[in-house]
Amino acid sequence: MRPAVPAVLALGANLGDRAATIRSAVEALGSLAGVRVLRVSGLYETPALKLTGVDHDAPAYLNAVALIETTLLPHTLLDAVNGVENDFGRVRDERWGDRTLDVDIVDYDGRESHDERLTLPHPRAAERGFVLVPWLDADNDARLTGHGRVADLAARAADRETVVPYATSSVPGSIDEVAERSGERGGAR
Ligand code: ATP
Ligand code: MG
Ligand code: MG
Repeated sequence: MRPAVPAVLALGANLGDRAATIRSAVEALGSLAGVRVLRVSGLYETPALKLTGVDHDAPAYLNAVALIETTLLPHTLLDAVNGVENDFGRVRDERWGDRTLDVDIVDYDGRESHDERLTLPHPRAAERGFVLVPWLDADNDARLTGHGRVADLAARAADRETVVPYATSSVPGSIDEVAERSGERGGAR
């Protein structure tokens, strides 16, 4: 069997129950044959980016990054993550349009390659705070092939201040919310 290699996936959602989608999508990715999820960042809320620029009228995104280990080849991994997008109702019409789920391959074992279906590392990751900030959260020492330390890239990203940690406690029924509610009860005594 092929040895497992590290890869980095960026997830984004701006339609539907975004937090639930991202959490379930990470589970779905982890249950793919040949994919193991090693670590997941926190959720971050970011304004929608359209071809015309930031669109504050469009629903905001939740973004996260998952560090995985995979035995799948890059294009097979792309097929697999596209399958998960489809399972979560991804519709492809306008470029950078609103979507239930986007899963991009940010990095695959530090590889640099380009063809009509797949560019590695992801060609726009280096300047996207909504990718870099969650990535840094998941891996403080991360490096982006050809670009250097993710910490430095995140500090330079023009959108970095718009990438805001998302209060997971507002997700109904989440473990965090249950913990917070019991914390509140404790505080009231
Ligand atoms: P962006 O790539 O700017 O984040 P997007 O995620 O909205 O935009 P999609 O509609 O999800 O774009 O994908 C467009 C095409 O990008 C896909 O058909 C896919 O083959 C291609 N692609 C190229 N490189 C990658 C990559 N590293 N990860 C995911 N898709 C990629
Ligand atoms: Mg994308
Ligand atoms: Mg995509």
